[in-house]
Amino acid sequence: MKNYKVYICVTCKNKNNNQNEFYPFCSKKCRDIDLSKWLNEEYAIEDNIIEQK
Ligand SMILES: [Zn+2]
Repeated sequence: MKNYKVYICVTCKNKNNNQNEFYPFCSKKCRDIDLSKWLNEEYAIEDNIIEQK
């Protein structure tokens, strides 16, 4: 039985399950990245946060 929800990390757009303690992020790294974006007031253009290379 699947009894978990899947969410997409705000920072890197990867799918994760909600057992992650860093929700809505996938990891501490992504949470810190998002936090620093807020601190730098660069959060306006959400579609342009990370370019996967
Ligand atoms: Zn992430």
